[in-house]
Amino acid sequence: MESQKDQMSALSYLDIHTHLRTSSHESVVVSSLSVEEISQKTLIGSYSCAGIHPWWLEEISQEVVDHLKVNILELASKGKLWGVGETGLDRLYPEFFDQQKELFLWHLDLSESLGLPLIIHNVRAGSDFLEIIKEKKPTVPWLFHDFRGNEELVKNLLRLHESCYFSFGISIDNSPQIRELLPQVPLENLFLETDNQKHLDIHEIYLRASEQLHLDLDFLKSQLWLNFKKINRQVQ
Ligand SMILES: [Zn+2]
Repeated sequence: MESQKDQMSALSYLDIHTHLRTSSHESVVVSSLSVEEISQKTLIGSYSCAGIHPWWLEEISQEVVDHLKVNILELASKGKLWGVGETGLDRLYPEFFDQQKELFLWHLDLSESLGLPLIIHNVRAGSDFLEIIKEKKPTVPWLFHDFRGNEELVKNLLRLHESCYFSFGISIDNSPQIRELLPQVPLENLFLETDNQKHLDIHEIYLRASEQLHLDLDFLKSQLWLNFKKINRQVQ
């Protein structure tokens, strides 16, 4: 059974981070649960992640935050989640920064205590994450989704925590800096994603990335599956 699933997976696209609920037989997705889904403890597909997104703090009360934490803790400790997050730090929302950091550290502790990957939203907070790694010395994989940092940040993060992964999506299309960065990211630390981009097809992202990296599409697909398996082995 397991090997059949693996064979099917080898042909599929892995979308490591999405908030969309459009299913496709061509892809396997890691879904980040919404406020409603966490509230109702609804899981999506085989790989769900739950966390409190820093942007949500603009819209939800402390009471809702507390309720979400209870449900995330329950889902995670019952083994229902693939990962913890999306959580993180966003310097474009400075008025919530202290609360973001407190919540990020809560997610970090949860991911460490249960041995689950941490899915991270980082906007202009690279140095904050470097400081946190130095202090907390995480052991579980950290997945920076829609990564917008530079080569130096990639190197510094990997130097301090070798289980850092970097995922890219729409930025391969709309950011020349990210297109330049892509070949500098070690292939064994790379993932691709649709995130919240309704009109973005994961197949298109893989095509763009394979062009940019001068790699055969099937090779890229199998490499990202290897990366996924490496994470799954590490957290088992
Ligand atoms: Zn996201």
